[in-house]
Amino acid sequence: MSDFLLEHEPSVRMGFFFGSLVLFGMWETLRPTRTPTVPRLWHWLNNLGLTVFNSFLLRFTFPVLAAGFAAITTTNGWGLLNWLDLPLVPATLIAIVVLDLVVYGQHVLFHAVPLFWRLHKVHHADVDYDVTTGARFHPVEIMLSMGIKLGVILVLGPPVVAVILFEIILSSMAMFNHANASLPTGLDRVLRLFVVTPDMHRVHHSINRREHNANFGFNISLWDRLFGTYKAAPDAGQTGMTIGLTDYQDNRRQSLLWMILLPFRSEKG
Ligand SMILES: [Zn+2]
Ligand SMILES: [Zn+2]
Repeated sequence: MSDFLLEHEPSVRMGFFFGSLVLFGMWETLRPTRTPTVPRLWHWLNNLGLTVFNSFLLRFTFPVLAAGFAAITTTNGWGLLNWLDLPLVPATLIAIVVLDLVVYGQHVLFHAVPLFWRLHKVHHADVDYDVTTGARFHPVEIMLSMGIKLGVILVLGPPVVAVILFEIILSSMAMFNHANASLPTGLDRVLRLFVVTPDMHRVHHSINRREHNANFGFNISLWDRLFGTYKAAPDAGQTGMTIGLTDYQDNRRQSLLWMILLPFRSEKG
């Protein structure tokens, strides 16, 4: 089964990526929460241009990516879950939860360590907030994330299906919770007991330092509550809050090249 999944992984992931992009893109077009300040075509082309660049970069710089490496650990019996020899379903569930916790921890780390923040601020410098923001990360951050993920896979030994499922969930959820749209209040309140919603993650993109050091989760909302980093709503409200970073409010039309060079510029302020 692993071979079949691995063989079809790129097309399945691509299908979910474009499916989510269209679905959540339509949602935010029909029911936008905030008025965009940058022309949408420019915003989409540059943010998605960075995403396409990143996926090519990963393919050409890493000899093996997450799912392929999970197949290697499974074949060789490496990692905790392979040693425990659990049935597929519990092993998959444990792996997805652990991988999500690692993504949460890594996100906190990328805010706390100045060198990593230089990379991660490309995600935060966006002055608008829409589905494409969810896929906007600096290439070096993407490569570091892959390195961390490979390390976790080596220690954990997750089933191949768990890694593929996690990558699909992460990519689709990132687009969902970066949508410039809001769920009805009651539904949001219930759903965010379990998963991160757009209104919850938008707080993390506030210009307010205290708010952007909250709501680090991407999928499961439990981590922020558990580790005391949860903030229910921005002080200025979802439409009144300012998105982005103080230093880059004047630079609203951020090009692909500008984003790639951002970490290497001297710090403002
Ligand atoms: Zn962040
Ligand atoms: Zn974000």
